[in-house]
Amino acid sequence: MRQTRVWARGLGLCGAVVEGVDLELPTNTLVVLARVGWRDRDRCGICRRRCPGFDLGRGRRRWRTLDLGSSVTVLEADSPRVSCPEHGVVVAWVPWARHGSRFTRTFEEQAAWLTVHSAQSTVATLLRVTWGSIVGIASRVVAAAELGRDPFAHLEKIGIDEISWKKGQRYITVVVDHDSGRLVWAAPGRDQATLNRFFDALGEERCRKVRRVSRDGGSWIVNVVTRRCPRAIQCTDPYHVVSWATDALDQVRRAVWNQARRAGEIELAHELKGARWALWHNPEDLTDRQQATLDALARLNRPLYRAYILKESLRLVFHMGRRRALKELERWLTWARRSRLQPFVKLARTITAYRPSIEAALRYRISNALAESINQKIRLIIRRSYGFRSADAIIAMAKLSLGGLCPPLPDRS
Ligand SMILES: [Zn+2]
Repeated sequence: MRQTRVWARGLGLCGAVVEGVDLELPTNTLVVLARVGWRDRDRCGICRRRCPGFDLGRGRRRWRTLDLGSSVTVLEADSPRVSCPEHGVVVAWVPWARHGSRFTRTFEEQAAWLTVHSAQSTVATLLRVTWGSIVGIASRVVAAAELGRDPFAHLEKIGIDEISWKKGQRYITVVVDHDSGRLVWAAPGRDQATLNRFFDALGEERCRKVRRVSRDGGSWIVNVVTRRCPRAIQCTDPYHVVSWATDALDQVRRAVWNQARRAGEIELAHELKGARWALWHNPEDLTDRQQATLDALARLNRPLYRAYILKESLRLVFHMGRRRALKELERWLTWARRSRLQPFVKLARTITAYRPSIEAALRYRISNALAESINQKIRLIIRRSYGFRSADAIIAMAKLSLGGLCPPLPDRS
C-alpha cells in the first residue's frame, strides 16, 4: 500500500487524499496534508450538490482528528467556497468532517461515545477539548443520527413529563417511549404550544396510532393530548396523585401548627415542627425517632393524624392488585369526602375529576416511572457538566445518551 493511503486509512480519514505528513515542533503536532478527491470536489457543504466554485474561502484550514500516539493530530486542506443555487455561497463539502465543524467525523464519533460512557472531565482531558466543543459535537452527532432514522416509528405508548433545568422557571418537556424505554422528543418550554410542536412533528396519522399516554395531572398536557390524540387512553401517574395527597397533608399540618402556636400549645407546636419528615416518609422507611413523633401526634392531634392515615392509605391503594385497588379507591374517596379536613375534601374532588385516567393507570399498569427515571438521568447529565448555558445543549446531550443516538466507536459496529 502506498504511504499516503496508509496514513488516510490508519487515521480513519475517509475520502481524504493524503499528500504528505509533517511534524510541527515544539507543539509536537502531527499535520496530515490532504485534499478532497475529485469525485467529492465542488459540492455544497449543506446539500452536497455539485456547484460552481466561488473562491478559495479562507485558504488552508485545519480539522482536529484522533491523536496518533501522544501527538495531537490535525488534517490540513484547502477549504474553498462554492455557490449553491439553494444555499448561496457556502464552504465546500469535505468528506471527512461535518459542515461547520473543526473536528473530523471519527473524532466526533469517538468524543460522542466517550461522553456517553464516561465522566466529562475524563473526556475533556483525554481529547484535549473544552466542554463547549463537546456540546457542539453532541449536537452535530445527534442531528446527523436523527436524519438517518425515524424517532417516532412504532410509537404507541408514550409518557409526557417536564424537567426544570435552571432556577427561574426554565423547563424542558420530554416525551418517552414506553416500549423502547427511550427518550424520543424534548424541547424547551412547558406549555401547550411546546407540546403541540411534538404532535405536529408526529403527524396526524401517527397521532391516531398512539394508544396510551402517561402523564402527571398538568392541565396543559391533558388539554393537548385530549385534542391531538382523542382516542388515546390517558393515564394519570399514581405517583403524582400521591404527591397531591402529600400536599394536602402539609396544608393540614400547617393549619394545625398555626392554631397550636396561637393557642400557646407549646408541646404540640414543638412536635409538629419536627413532624414534617415523619409525615412525609413511607412508614417502612421511618426511623425510631420519627415513629415516636408520629405516635405523639396520634395522641396530641387527631385531625392531623387522620390526614396522615388518609395520605398513607391512598399510597397503599396504588400498590394493590388492580381489582382491589379500584374498589379501595372508591372507599378512599368516600372517606376523604367525609373527613372534615378541607384539603382532603378538595383532593377527593380533584381525584374524582381525574378518576377515569387514574383508573386507567391502575388497569394498564402504566405510570410515568419511565419518564421520571429519564428525567433523573437528565438531571445527572446537568449536574455532571458544570452548568449548561442552554436548553438545546442539555437536549442534545440527553438525546445522545438516552435517545439511542450514540454512535459506535469509529471503525466498529
Ligand atoms: Zn446546497
